[in-house]
Amino acid sequence: MGDECCNSGCKPCLLDPDDGDIPDLLNYIDGEFTTAASEEWLNDLSPVTGMRIARVPNSNEDDIDAAVTAARSALPEWAAFSREERATWLDKIADALEVRSEEVAQLESLDTGKPITLARSVDAARSIANFRFFAEQVREFTPETFEMTNATNHVIYKPVGVAGLITPWNLPLYLLSWKVAPALAMGNTVVAKPSELTPMTASLLAEIIDDVGLPAGVFNLVHGTGINAGSALTSHHDVDLISFTGGTATGAAVAASAASNFKKLSLELGGKNATIVCADADLDATIPGVVRAGFLNQGQVCLCGSRILIEESIYDEFVGKFLTAVNDMPVGDPSDPDTTLGALVSSDHLEKVMSYITLSQEEGGRILAGGNKPEGIPEQFANGNWLSPTVIEGLSPESRCATEEIFGPVVTLHPFADEEEALAIANATDYGLAGSVWTRDLEKGKRIAEGIDTGMVWVNTWLHRDLRTPFGGVKHSGVGREGGRWSLSFYSHAVNICLYDE
Ligand code: NAP
Repeated sequence: MGDECCNSGCKPCLLDPDDGDIPDLLNYIDGEFTTAASEEWLNDLSPVTGMRIARVPNSNEDDIDAAVTAARSALPEWAAFSREERATWLDKIADALEVRSEEVAQLESLDTGKPITLARSVDAARSIANFRFFAEQVREFTPETFEMTNATNHVIYKPVGVAGLITPWNLPLYLLSWKVAPALAMGNTVVAKPSELTPMTASLLAEIIDDVGLPAGVFNLVHGTGINAGSALTSHHDVDLISFTGGTATGAAVAASAASNFKKLSLELGGKNATIVCADADLDATIPGVVRAGFLNQGQVCLCGSRILIEESIYDEFVGKFLTAVNDMPVGDPSDPDTTLGALVSSDHLEKVMSYITLSQEEGGRILAGGNKPEGIPEQFANGNWLSPTVIEGLSPESRCATEEIFGPVVTLHPFADEEEALAIANATDYGLAGSVWTRDLEKGKRIAEGIDTGMVWVNTWLHRDLRTPFGGVKHSGVGREGGRWSLSFYSHAVNICLYDE
């Protein structure tokens, strides 16, 4: 492995002269681990040190084509397995992931900069749970029958075919497994393209799938950029389905590309979610909930409550207590179990988030906390992508900072007079993914929740997930739903067979 920059168009990187042991992650195509056809590499950089921690293949349309060909030829055999047999394969993958769950957490923390405690409790745990959950779902799945006079309708569910799965960097294996498990459960074969910024756990999944002996070609992994590998997958004529999670602008490009041969499409996109705090909320429970909603994963969760709407009669009291809690958050070394806020994923992303903080000043905002690099970051992490949890008030609810997705540890505060105004502010964005309402009055909470134009709303909690429930957004936050039977339905074609019987 050379020590020169790969010159593949990525951000200039710091090369550690002692990095001779860094791994080369490989594609996994037709049951074989391979380099890219181009033999080019991309650098995977640590968010914490800026140093190179791995290289990934800079794949292009040739690699995607090989993966799609493998997935196509594996399809008849895989589709012919019974649901019970496929569920057993998912359980085997879950078992093998569970054995290596600490490794999953360590790799996820290393690759994303997130705290190890979060990587353990959320990323690793949920990746295992996704395989187990869909194994159980597909076992319990009962196709419908509809009786009518002289006939019975039997609905059968066929695999869609070759599924192209594209995932982002914020919850790498969590989101990849959320797609791979139901796709395989319903008899599809898979070509996965994870974010090149966080490729490590996708590679670990390929290793596990190889170890458990899933038939070759059923699961294929192609690393690379969105421009080269991602767009080759969405435009490939022999891919039948695209499930994409990522930014809204990319989602629009994916939708246009996938439309060329009418691929089945699911888009899980960005969010600019409102957290509505009513005057009657129990602040002792609400403040920790609102802090978590604003800053979990450095604010890099599509569901994060980045706009906090506070009833004006408690505005000052809320803001005082909220700032105390925000300023108490330990920021720094992700491997320290006490850390609650790690580094942002990349220097490019940090730059984007910082540009919004600058913009907030031009838009009339006042920074109440953060806005800069946290103090006390050790020397060895000086080149990491650090930002203190940032709180801004005084912005118009229509300002760009209050309506565009920043996707970092930045929240804006907005007072409201009554429910009507709270809903007007909450809905004053093109996004429509999620939201939360905090009140002691559950009737009022439900009423406000019903008025928010999003796909999901929590009352007195946030990110409290039952995997059987529908997950997805409206407006510019997405098309379609994932979760439970919604995923099983997306990853299959329903076919009605009407048996006439005089
Ligand atoms: P992104 O830039 O849109 O990238 C997502 C994935 O798409 C990556 O694998 C990316 O590859 C790939 N890609 C980029 N351009 C492509 C193209 N033209 N064709 C096909 N694939 C392409 O998003 P991100 O920055 O990774 O993730 C953050 C975004 O994801 C935020 O907006 C967040 O809200 C959203 N998100 C939504 C959900 C949800 O469930 N609604 C969940 C998590 C995150 P590269 O990395 O190589 O560019």
